[in-house]
Amino acid sequence: MSSEQPPKRPERAVKRAAPSALPAPVTPSTPHVASALAASSPWAYAPAPESKELALIRPRYGLFIDGQERAPASGEVVITYNPATEEPLAEVAKGGAEDADRAISAAERAYRKVWSKLAPRERAKYLYRISRILQERSREFAVTETLDSGKPIRESRDVDVPLAAAHFWYYAGWADKLQYAVPGRRPESHGVVGQVIPWNFPLLMLAWKIAPALAAGNTVVLKPASTTPLTALLFADVCRQADLPPGVVNIITGPGEMGMAIATDPRVAKVAFTGSTSVGIKIAQGIAGHGKALTLELGGKAANIVFEDAALDQAVEGVINGIFFNQGEVCCAGSRLLVQESIAEDFIARLKDRMSTLRVGDPMDKNTDVGAINSRAQMETIGELVASGVAEGANLWQPECVLPDRGWFYKPTLFTNVAQSHRIAREEIFGPVLSTITFRTVDEAIEKANNTAYGLSAGIWTEKGSRILQVAAQLKAGVVWANTFNRFDPTSPFGGYKESGYGREGGLQGLHAYLRSS
Ligand code: NDP
Repeated sequence: MSSEQPPKRPERAVKRAAPSALPAPVTPSTPHVASALAASSPWAYAPAPESKELALIRPRYGLFIDGQERAPASGEVVITYNPATEEPLAEVAKGGAEDADRAISAAERAYRKVWSKLAPRERAKYLYRISRILQERSREFAVTETLDSGKPIRESRDVDVPLAAAHFWYYAGWADKLQYAVPGRRPESHGVVGQVIPWNFPLLMLAWKIAPALAAGNTVVLKPASTTPLTALLFADVCRQADLPPGVVNIITGPGEMGMAIATDPRVAKVAFTGSTSVGIKIAQGIAGHGKALTLELGGKAANIVFEDAALDQAVEGVINGIFFNQGEVCCAGSRLLVQESIAEDFIARLKDRMSTLRVGDPMDKNTDVGAINSRAQMETIGELVASGVAEGANLWQPECVLPDRGWFYKPTLFTNVAQSHRIAREEIFGPVLSTITFRTVDEAIEKANNTAYGLSAGIWTEKGSRILQVAAQLKAGVVWANTFNRFDPTSPFGGYKESGYGREGGLQGLHAYLRSS
């Protein structure tokens, strides 16, 4: 045996984080412990930014009319900004009535000459193709959506883009089965449909509208919101990639008045709008008496009702998801928490603990829970409504969190001691702001939940199946979730009552909206 010692192996360079950056690996057993941890330790994650380079944003975009990119008649552009940095992202064509006219002519021609003559199964192939391309380009779409809208990349990547693809897939299946959608009657398409969409789910709202419209045999003129045009313009590229016949889908960017020009044009047979109640009313008035079909998906002030027998930690998660998903910029957000008085104190304590662990900041970071507010104007709306809540006597609470120096960010906000007459209990805030109201009995919960001008969605948290059925049947809301919230599926209809609008999107009902039947 040799006495020689083996040569010493060179020490491997091991990267160690500075001790202060590594909190002790403690698992919180209750939410109360979580807040203590959040306060006493950094509870920090290493940054996990998604790559901006995946977005391939061009400096300038034109209008997508008749399968081609065109300059607007005005020759003007508007700038779209990154809400998280306030930096410009791209220049986008500022369309007007003249451009709307050209787009509608293209859609009308495409309907008459191509799309209405195509065998339904051929239409289906285009929809499947679009769905596949969205899946293939999902990272590009997710990054573009997050940069343009401010929503966390985790949400655009895991919710918006997959659901958009799923809508095209689902409606592709219907394209050659329309006779089964309206049994005993003959389904016919409307012709040209005009669609105006908002900024909170830009790609997803596009999919909710374009997929059923094409499956039913219509052609489309769509206007995205001015602050979030990029994924719609990227979708124009998908239409070209899918070889969709020119004019079947036209996407034109421009101000609100252009949306009205699309809706009121006599060649547009059906109008679909998602946005504020005030604009929805204007559109309904503008087209009244012209025999056009109309679906309006407007605002909401949903009640998330927590009964004393609910699984409380699960309900806390549901309430958090209900109001802080997409920064609360969601028409069906659970913006009113109705909690049974017997558990209110405990529930609010758990909720505050959980809110203390929310990560607010860079939407491109995969750890971020609450991203940027879409626009300065929306920030001001939120600020004004929150100030009204304080002035009217509600108690405001916000977790300690440091907001980025730049960009439009708002702290998760909880109001307690809210009266039903307060503006924060009646008006749609469209921000990360939760208003809490208590109740004692089931009847009182139902009455308070329905005490709103809106009727889009609601949530029920209870262990009793019979109570779920009893309460859901009495809630005047288009969608009622039980022991969950904000779940979407292409096969499920979505829409509201009262000032939340009328008509349904999604599912078979969403297909009906794009069909006339004789
Ligand atoms: P709007 O209703 O103004 O915008 C929605 C869409 O309508 C956008 O494409 C917008 O274009 C377009 N539009 C604006 N004015 C007209 C018009 N006169 N005729 C036709 N189309 C028009 O919503 P805001 O962006 O002003 O948001 C205000 C509030 O509306 C929010 O605080 C929130 O409460 C609510 N809202 C509800 C949504 C929902 O999902 N139900 C979605 C968005 C907002 P442009 O962007 O160019 O102005």
